[in-house]
Amino acid sequence: MPFVEAIHLHKTLPCLAEPGKLIVIGTPTRTLDGLLPLVAAVAPNVISFNPIAGTLTLRRKPGFITFYPDRVMITQVVSVEEGLDLLQATCDLLNQCWEHRDTIQPVTTIRRAPRPLDIWALLPQTNCKRCGEPTCMAFACALLLNKQTPDGCPPMASDLIFGERKAQLDALVGGGA
Ligand code: SF4
Repeated sequence: MPFVEAIHLHKTLPCLAEPGKLIVIGTPTRTLDGLLPLVAAVAPNVISFNPIAGTLTLRRKPGFITFYPDRVMITQVVSVEEGLDLLQATCDLLNQCWEHRDTIQPVTTIRRAPRPLDIWALLPQTNCKRCGEPTCMAFACALLLNKQTPDGCPPMASDLIFGERKAQLDALVGGGA
């Protein structure tokens, strides 16, 4: 038996970060907080997790999926049709976690979202502008907004010196895909 029967489309809003796109809000058929520690343990690209508040944010490309106990919010969605597909895929992800619950070690600690300074500390910090941004800090902010990817910094992608830092950056902001 699935954990969640369905996540119904509740409403859509204009996506302020990406004009022309939508924020899709879905309502699950049961509360999710009991499941989120399992999802946080296995989902790719976890940005933040708060087991006390029962909130979990995942990075998707592009945009974010945020789970609350009683709703799911997906940003940068192209159309209502895509939103419905994403809600179904999200429902499937939740149910897969539930199905494998006996083999998953739940996450019980807070995981916070990376901040621009966390990203900047890993960058070459030369402000060379090859990424198209005026500074490395601007690139860090663009990464967090999903407007750049880690591969957008050519010195980092090409220089072996930054290999380890690049791997950390990929892990932090979900690069390499
Ligand atoms: S290409 Fe890399 S090193 Fe150059 S400004 Fe952009 S982030 Fe900084």
